[in-house]
Amino acid sequence: MFVIMQNSATRDQIESVTRKIQKLGHIAHQVHGDSRTCIAVTGERGSDDIARIELLPGVARVVPVTLPYKLASREVKPENTVVRVGSVSFGDGNVVIIGGPCAVESEESTLRIATQVADCGAQMLRGGAYKPRTSPYSFQGLGERGLEILGKARDLTGLPVVTEVVTTETASLVAQYADMLQVGTRNMQNFMLLKAVANQGKPVLLKRGMGATLDETLMSAEYLLLNGCQDVVLCERGIRTFNSHARNTLDVSIIPAIKQVSHLPIIVDPSHSSGNRTMVLPHALAGVGAGCDGLIVDVHDRPDEALCDGPQALLPDEFRTLLKLCGGVASALGRELGQPIHEARRLSIASG
Ligand code: PEP
Ligand code: MN
Repeated sequence: MFVIMQNSATRDQIESVTRKIQKLGHIAHQVHGDSRTCIAVTGERGSDDIARIELLPGVARVVPVTLPYKLASREVKPENTVVRVGSVSFGDGNVVIIGGPCAVESEESTLRIATQVADCGAQMLRGGAYKPRTSPYSFQGLGERGLEILGKARDLTGLPVVTEVVTTETASLVAQYADMLQVGTRNMQNFMLLKAVANQGKPVLLKRGMGATLDETLMSAEYLLLNGCQDVVLCERGIRTFNSHARNTLDVSIIPAIKQVSHLPIIVDPSHSSGNRTMVLPHALAGVGAGCDGLIVDVHDRPDEALCDGPQALLPDEFRTLLKLCGGVASALGRELGQPIHEARRLSIASG
């Protein structure tokens, strides 16, 4: 169940309702919205607990939540969550564009690509230092050295960095360097990892498992929310179907479905959905058309030399075109792309 407090409820009333819930043997999670606070209640429920809580001062109503996810649901928090990563905002109506190599390959190539991505107008940099590869013979990533390189790329461009965490042991190390932690498709239901990542005090990008339903995806988000991370961005990156014309099947239908039941932002990864440079743009346009809050795109200036996922990486010029065309679709829908960091940085350097 969840307890909806009155808009005028005082801090003391919220705390005393929380204590009462705990006294009844439940776990209480306060969720602070813009206009009111809700308290999500988990654990065993006694049959007359709703009536007892409903009578407490400051309580507007108590609603039994039938959905398996609670903190991720719009029933608990009707207004959209806006996730901030530095000066970048997911879920505020703008479309955030993240670009960068699939993997951090070397300092030189990463700084070069990061600069190009920033010049094209992206707001964030992506790049894996730890790569979860299907084949043990494939490039596994540079590890901590890769994180250091990402830190340098951020210093150089001003772009906040998102990078993947693949083990519980390295979660805090990755969090020392990254602005946003990524949980990949293969780990979406690695619940220990979700808990470790949630503990780091950083926003999290949670990619949908390649065979995960909407409910399963939101249950994984629930692990993050329940374990102290309020800043969760979901990512649709294509699912496994019977098709063979693309690496995965981009399920744009999950975007409006998520928006109906959850307050969390959702972005699209058109690179891993298509697996092919020639199809990244239409996948990206479809995502923006369906109402996603951003895109995460593989970009490489020498894709033939890429150590990971070269065939799906856009060249910088193609990435620039993608931004322009996605900006067009966004504006047709009354939205716009987020402000390029480079431009914002130049303006602030020029003015001060
Ligand atoms: C990635 O973004 O680098 C990645 C490995 O993606 P996914 O987990 O969606 O396969
Ligand atoms: Mn990849």
